[in-house]
Amino acid sequence: MRRTVIAGNWKMNKNFSEAEDFFLNLTESIKSKDFDNVEVVICPSAVFLELATDFSIEYPLGIGGQDVSANVEGAYTGEVSASMLRSIEVDYCLIGHSERRKYHLESDEQINKKLHLLQENDITPILCIGETLEQREQNITKEVIISQLEGGLKNVTLKKEVIIAYEPVWAIGTGRTATPEQAQEIHQEIRKWIEEKYTTEIAEDIIVLYGGSMNPGNQEELLKQPDIDGGLIGGASLVAEKFEQMIDIAIELRG
Ligand code: PEP
Repeated sequence: MRRTVIAGNWKMNKNFSEAEDFFLNLTESIKSKDFDNVEVVICPSAVFLELATDFSIEYPLGIGGQDVSANVEGAYTGEVSASMLRSIEVDYCLIGHSERRKYHLESDEQINKKLHLLQENDITPILCIGETLEQREQNITKEVIISQLEGGLKNVTLKKEVIIAYEPVWAIGTGRTATPEQAQEIHQEIRKWIEEKYTTEIAEDIIVLYGGSMNPGNQEELLKQPDIDGGLIGGASLVAEKFEQMIDIAIELRG
């Protein structure tokens, strides 16, 4: 059975004391919960990753970066390498988030380089894919996500874990969520593509998250879909109580 992943993407939010308070709150709450099959992941700003991994030593918490350099090391001012993330015990890293694609013009080729570097450093990539509103209206959603999968997973064997996050761009931070049926349709398509490209076993095992205005009100119906294995949660992950509520919903359904 695939595990359910509830991952919070803080984006560029929180200062040090806010981040620390959140982790104190969250760890206090998860230590009294009983769960086997749900994994909680937080992706804070790079500045707070070490603070976060200090908490994850003691508590069942995965920590993820929000991005990584496509280069190994050297003269790349401002960048953070995969081996730096590894050296502070980071477990996961988002790549290809639509905000990186939009504001930093990241290409599938760069995203693919990042994915390989993460795997070489034993960090699980969370590969974000998704169509814009314009692409959905043009009826090319499937083509778009397949081309992002092809580009992002080029020369990747999937012997090491990769998580896919389907995030329709029109649903990110807009309060507009894909309906459970719309999300399920694309998740199923992703799994079908993985089966054709790799094996049935890999397709059955791969974790595919939904992201796009997921919140405590719409999460349950999304998680009831057979191919949705959890959520990548932006806005609703910033408030500890709300995020904890979402962890509880996941435990109730899948714990
Ligand atoms: C995200 O940042 O990946 C995201 C899904 O954001 P939100 O939940 O705010 O739409």
